Amino acid sequence: MVVKPSEQEEEYFARLDFEKKKKVEEEKHKKIAEEEKKRLKALHYMKCPRCGVDLIEVDYKGIKVDKCVQCSGLWLDAGELENVAKQEKTFLDNLFSFFTESDQR
Ligand SMILES: [Zn+2]
Repeated sequence: MVVKPSEQEEEYFARLDFEKKKKVEEEKHKKIAEEEKKRLKALHYMKCPRCGVDLIEVDYKGIKVDKCVQCSGLWLDAGELENVAKQEKTFLDNLFSFFTESDQR
């Protein structure tokens, strides 16, 4: 089969068209992914990962601890575990007893 120049041209334009549509599709997907991220954040922000109920943020001596009232789970933000680990052992004891006592109240 002899390929005529016009056929090559058609193929070229078809490919251009495909690339253009592919880019539009990719942009659409990126936008959907961004919206999904925002939606998930709005849905899960400050919710217990176990129970899904609202977390209560307590600033305990400069360390923000998020506590679940349902399962009594304690959650720390990024870097806060390091801050806790740097503290004296008595600090940890006090932190734990603070949250244990608040459960009994
Ligand atoms: Zn919980």
